Amino acid sequence: MNRNGAAAARERVLQEIRTGHGFCLVTHEHPDGDALGSLVAMHRILTALGKDSVMLMAADEFPLPYEYRFFDLAGLSTVPPVDLPERTIIYLDCGNIDRNPLGIVKGDDVHILNVDHHHDNTRFGTVNLVDADAACTTEIVWDLMRALGVEPDQDIADALYVGLVTDTGRFMYENTGPRAHVMAAELIEAGVDSHAIYRRLYEDMPYAKLELLGRALARVERFDDGGLTVARVTREDFDAVGAEDSYTEGIIDHLRSVEGTKVAALAREVESGGIRKKVSLRSTDGEVDVSAIARAGGGGGHRQAAGFTTELGDDELVAFLREQIAAQLALSSR
Ligand code: AMP
Ligand code: MN
Ligand code: MN
Repeated sequence: MNRNGAAAARERVLQEIRTGHGFCLVTHEHPDGDALGSLVAMHRILTALGKDSVMLMAADEFPLPYEYRFFDLAGLSTVPPVDLPERTIIYLDCGNIDRNPLGIVKGDDVHILNVDHHHDNTRFGTVNLVDADAACTTEIVWDLMRALGVEPDQDIADALYVGLVTDTGRFMYENTGPRAHVMAAELIEAGVDSHAIYRRLYEDMPYAKLELLGRALARVERFDDGGLTVARVTREDFDAVGAEDSYTEGIIDHLRSVEGTKVAALAREVESGGIRKKVSLRSTDGEVDVSAIARAGGGGGHRQAAGFTTELGDDELVAFLREQIAAQLALSSR
């Protein structure tokens, strides 16, 4: 979106929040720190403005991954409110309307504010405030909060900070610019205890998570001189150590940090006896756009972090990834 388009969308979102009464907030399935942080912060901001806000999340998302259980989710419903048609729906951190719990399809008679930072957002909203330069969706929510004149309380500040710290890889990914640090500074001034948040998110890890990491690392494979580094996690792995699906979080960072890796991939089986896999992709130096590979596989994401779900077998998946990477490298070297 060009600058004027983005400014106009921002103004319209602000206007709709100022004048609206009822809101329903949603985010993507299997919510991460940015998804939950955006949801909780926006809910509290609307409540501070005296609005009627409901957070909506599917019942099967619970229990949340252990690191996010500290969020106060009072005001959350697992079924759409009966007056949904009268409410403005705000999508947060959701690049694609199919990744939501409502089953809403584009063209339905619904009013949607789409607030997100995925460059490949399908712009399914009535208003699309999509800022691909934002490090995280909570950065956009933080900007809206300030424009609306809301002072962050502890819960809002914590929620915004969680989105920031998780989506920037603790301020280390290439999306981390000066703005991310300014936002962090402001939130710390508003009362965020950054070390306490770090402890909640990254320590206190269940032992089974470490065991799962061990199993994944024991099965790493490298292709094309290490350009592609892949690991797999099977249902048997989860069962053997008593791990939840979310315990795979962070494994891929070990793969991407290996010398020579251009693309890191982690494939985890999503259901027992089934053939579906959730594939996470990360690119290291930006030479390969993994979101393009994810889109070719039916998913999406960011240039440096993306994912898709597939029914390809292990060998077919590796062949698909190698082909996709080779095609991109051939194009870029021309
Ligand atoms: P993950 O590997 O699950 O941490 O996801 C990395 C990034 O890719 C996130 O920004 C996700 O929003 C995005 N992503 C993951 N899976 C999908 C999918 N099936 N469809 C669209 N985007 C996805
Ligand atoms: Mn997210
Ligand atoms: Mn995000």
